[in-house]
Amino acid sequence: MPHDLLIVGSGITGLYAALHARSLGLSVLLISKAKLESGSTFWAQGGLAFPTSPEDVEPHVQDTLRAGRGLCDEKTVRLFVEEAGQHLQKLLSYGVPFEGHQTLEGGHSHPRVFHAWGDASGRAVSVTLTQVVRDQGIEVLEGAFVQSLLLSESGRVVGVQTRNQNHLAGAVLLASGGFGQLYPVTTAPEEATGDGIALAYRAGAVLRDMEFVQFHPTVFLAGNRGLLITEAARGEGAVLLNGNMERFMQEYDPQGELAPRDVVARAIASEEAKTGRVYLDLRHLGAEFVQHRFPSIYERLLSHGVDISTEPVPVSPAVHYTIGGIFTDVDGKTTLEGLYAAGEVASSGLHGANRLASNSLPEGLVFGVRAVEAAHKSLKFESPVSRTQLETVGSKASVQQVIGAGAGINRTAETLRLALETLPEPGATDGSTIDTLEAGNLARVARTVLKGALDREESRGGHFRTDYPEPDEVRHSLFQIPPLLETL
Ligand SMILES: Cc1cc2nc3c(=O)[nH]c(=O)nc-3n(C[C@H](O)[C@H](O)[C@H](O)COP(=O)(O)OP(=O)(O)OC[C@H]3O[C@@H](n4cnc5c(N)ncnc54)[C@H](O)[C@@H]3O)c2cc1C
Repeated sequence: MPHDLLIVGSGITGLYAALHARSLGLSVLLISKAKLESGSTFWAQGGLAFPTSPEDVEPHVQDTLRAGRGLCDEKTVRLFVEEAGQHLQKLLSYGVPFEGHQTLEGGHSHPRVFHAWGDASGRAVSVTLTQVVRDQGIEVLEGAFVQSLLLSESGRVVGVQTRNQNHLAGAVLLASGGFGQLYPVTTAPEEATGDGIALAYRAGAVLRDMEFVQFHPTVFLAGNRGLLITEAARGEGAVLLNGNMERFMQEYDPQGELAPRDVVARAIASEEAKTGRVYLDLRHLGAEFVQHRFPSIYERLLSHGVDISTEPVPVSPAVHYTIGGIFTDVDGKTTLEGLYAAGEVASSGLHGANRLASNSLPEGLVFGVRAVEAAHKSLKFESPVSRTQLETVGSKASVQQVIGAGAGINRTAETLRLALETLPEPGATDGSTIDTLEAGNLARVARTVLKGALDREESRGGHFRTDYPEPDEVRHSLFQIPPLLETL
């Protein structure tokens, strides 16, 4: 029996969309390749940006547009900020334990970041919504890897295929998150392998602005895992010091430590090159405050031998957030009938060239709900005749090394061309493991990132070309290939 709606992914977008679909009386199946409490959502620290009053709507809009460096869709931004507040109320009604005071983060003109469980805001949202989803008896499949989209004769997306089963529905919502794992060092969890983006692309959907990848400025490197130190630390007064133990951010931007992320990340990379190291210093905030306000970060770094309340923490920029993605309208509609996308997997026009801090968790709420509403209005049940091809490459590491060298925080035509030449080509396959399928997805995605970055001969937001350091034409990048399908 087909469901009305299939949702792929159980981060904030998928969980919240499932609850909304249930409230409309739809039958929903929520699928996650990991457990329900998963995705970047589970690891999010700082919190969720909401306008704090009706008077704060316009400043929030303007801050978002400013960070987006001319590439935001203003209509999408306005609609997002205007609708966000109602979802804050809904989260409170579900029991998300937001704390009383809001924090200032980089690029915001006003403290409007709501947080919960100290610096574990994402975990608070994930755990709370998962409980409500379970309480409401919504059907879920955990540990189920979606490997293909199913398409009908007319080209409509009519379901998904997990490793051992076809699941049919009146509409499919991809809420499968970003592709941080494309890079050798990232703050994003193992699940972030760009599966949804690669699946939609193989089915013939249009992707947009794939070259825009956000590097978080302050990441403690523990081997190849990037341990994030939330922007809220700088919001609370932490400062950056170079290898000579001098502050430097004022030389790069009048907003200092609270400049937009792309500015701070590049400033850190530049000071690292000049003075060898950069540190985040929280000592002057007081040990008691630091341990109380940032308990998870404090504990995690302590386990790596660094006490953030008494010593400066070495930090570097690392890949953090996928700005581009599946091209959608404000209702989450992709360019394929029956397929919707929301959250980090989508390019809705909200972030432009650079995401404003803490806008992405609320993005999942606003656009997840809009996608469910739109899907509800046009459910259609057709039989599948084909599926998107399975593709693999040997290992994720082979893709990560190429992209890390080619499309890092500073890019040039030379590094990008070399990366395009050496990137492994995904091959169609029958025999596969989840690991090699994820690697195949990363390789599909990688080519678009490199191609977009090579063709964009300018610097803007998250995309910086040392050979074209100034902004040029305001334009989006679009990516599409003929569908790669196999007959069922
Ligand atoms: C360390 C860290 C801190 C952050 N802090 C903040 C913050 O403070 N504020 C903020 O606004 N944003 C923050 N972000 C960004 C934010 O967390 C994400 O943008 C947001 O959580 C994305 O939500 P999502 O629901 O779209 O995807 P995710 O939360 O990433 O969820 C993706 C889901 O898809 C599932 N999935 C993926 N592929 C498949 C597949 N093939 N088959 C089945 N299931 C699949 C995964 O299992 C997972 O359940 C942070 C990100 C990181 C990494």
